[in-house]
Amino acid sequence: MIEKLSRLFVRTLRDDPADAEVPSHRWLVRAGYIRRVAPGVYSWLPLGLKVLRKVETIVREEMVAMGAQEVLFPALLPREPYEATNRWTDYGDNLFRLKDRRGADMLLGPTHEEIFTLTVKDMYSSYKDLPLSLFQIQTKYRDEARPRAGLLRGREFVMKDSYSFDIDDEGLDASYRAHRDAYIRIFERLGLEYVIVSAMAGAMGGSASEEFLAVAKNGEDTFVRSPGGYAANVEAVRIAAPEALPLDDAPTMSVVDTPDARSIAAVVDVLNAEHAQDQPWTADQMLKNLVFLVKHPDGTTEPLAIGLPGDRDVDAKRLEAVFEPSVAVPFTPEDFEKYPALNVGFMGPVDASGAAILGEESATGIRYVVDPRVVTGTHWVTGANAVDQHLTGVTMGRDFTPDGVLDVADVREGDAAPDGSGPMQLARGIEMGHIFQLGRRYAEALGLKVLDKNGKLVTVTMGSYGVGVSRAVAAVAEATCDDKGLCWPLELAPYQVQILATGKDISVFEEADRIAGELSERGLDVLVDDRKASPGVKFADSEILGMPIIVVVGRGLADGVVEVRNRATGERSEVAVADAVSAVLELAGR
Ligand code: ATP
Ligand code: MG
Repeated sequence: MIEKLSRLFVRTLRDDPADAEVPSHRWLVRAGYIRRVAPGVYSWLPLGLKVLRKVETIVREEMVAMGAQEVLFPALLPREPYEATNRWTDYGDNLFRLKDRRGADMLLGPTHEEIFTLTVKDMYSSYKDLPLSLFQIQTKYRDEARPRAGLLRGREFVMKDSYSFDIDDEGLDASYRAHRDAYIRIFERLGLEYVIVSAMAGAMGGSASEEFLAVAKNGEDTFVRSPGGYAANVEAVRIAAPEALPLDDAPTMSVVDTPDARSIAAVVDVLNAEHAQDQPWTADQMLKNLVFLVKHPDGTTEPLAIGLPGDRDVDAKRLEAVFEPSVAVPFTPEDFEKYPALNVGFMGPVDASGAAILGEESATGIRYVVDPRVVTGTHWVTGANAVDQHLTGVTMGRDFTPDGVLDVADVREGDAAPDGSGPMQLARGIEMGHIFQLGRRYAEALGLKVLDKNGKLVTVTMGSYGVGVSRAVAAVAEATCDDKGLCWPLELAPYQVQILATGKDISVFEEADRIAGELSERGLDVLVDDRKASPGVKFADSEILGMPIIVVVGRGLADGVVEVRNRATGERSEVAVADAVSAVLELAGR
């Protein structure tokens, strides 16, 4: 098909939008593909909509090919099913809630496990009906705390979500595999450089889960990779605990004066100055203790102390992922006032007399969890719960016993991968897709049971799978754009070819139309810049708009030549007018 730029509903902008944080956002707005209506809410203009539709088509084709059936469920949903699974509460502020005229609570769907489960329950009753996979490509709503980077994190966005229903675990495994394979084909076709990483299940619940991340330096997700093939979202890294040490070898616990040493670094300095030993004292011999208030969605709270090696910090994202939908916030001075037994700056699990200070069975009753590196027999320097005093030789399993393990310390470049596959490297990515084995949580909560072979009622097991369709538009733009504008791959470009008619001579416009007509007949989509604008404006706009092949019909026409440009590589070649069509077809891979 052919479109004329003179009538296309588009305006390129000279300036970056004020809120543009990443190149894809800047260029999608400046090229007139999308327009902001409210934070995280965008309109799709003709060029943007064409790219969105192409992404949808790829996703749809691959979902259909793997045997899933397309449906379309409402975005406007009643509260009750989400109440039954507790997500009305668990989703917290991220849920867009509203009331109808009768005062009934409703919501705009952030994801649709509940409604799919209920619909299958209504219609199916036997193992013979399974396995079943359903999908939709639909607008989702989440009141994100930080809508960001245009389409990358919207409050209204397009997702492909699918759900699988199986009678048993083997069935779920097969459905999960089929989705995983389909996702691999989708992301290959989108041309994204991606990695598949182990993920946390988050608010969704369930067990096995993996994410597809587009590798991108502006991505919000951090992931790790090892030479031996370990790959995980940093939130999902579970470090391997070292072996326990014999308690007999542990040193005795003793008090050291550490005047004014309220930080790990200060304690290390005092020890090296006043209590030098063979090897210098280092931060990783210290036990750092931090206290948090865990706030649950239902409004209740509980204190929690975390102990970790002194050279590590709590990683905010890892902490968030572990507690979601609850949140853990650091104790405030007011919180500490309620626990006079705690000596801020000199805190530790025990005092010099050996009395427990942290832990459910202690003076404070504050639950105490430790980093997996803190195993039985390890000994530490930590606060003595007395001003200006620390304890050395505080031994886990002898002097203190924590209530549990919590793996939320920062993961660092070079840390050993948990599976022994070598040192981990850190990189950033954009989450493009997420596949979950949900198991029976939703089916149980909503009563989805079918009769098995023996006529016994069994609970169905489910999977849930998402692709960020609108996010993919931005992720591809992010991966391909340059300092001049967008730069689409052939598969996703709104038009594969843009023809610039430059000059005043009528023959230039006629020739541009003729070439466009021939290309269109060969199945290419062509945008003709037929505006009465200067060549400079047309060149600049063609670079911003980002069609992969650009044909310039202008001054050269008098000599019988036109220019064919490859937008991505910048390569240009002059070709005889008669060869223009074949040159373009070749670039287009036809
Ligand atoms: P994130 O960690 O980025 O917030 P999520 O884990 O909440 O995403 P899922 O619930 O797994 O996301 O949703 C499935 C897919 O939908 C994601 O992999 C992502 O591609 C897309 N997606 C999620 N939230 C948004 C959003 N706010 N804007 C655009 N796409 C989104
Ligand atoms: Mg996710």
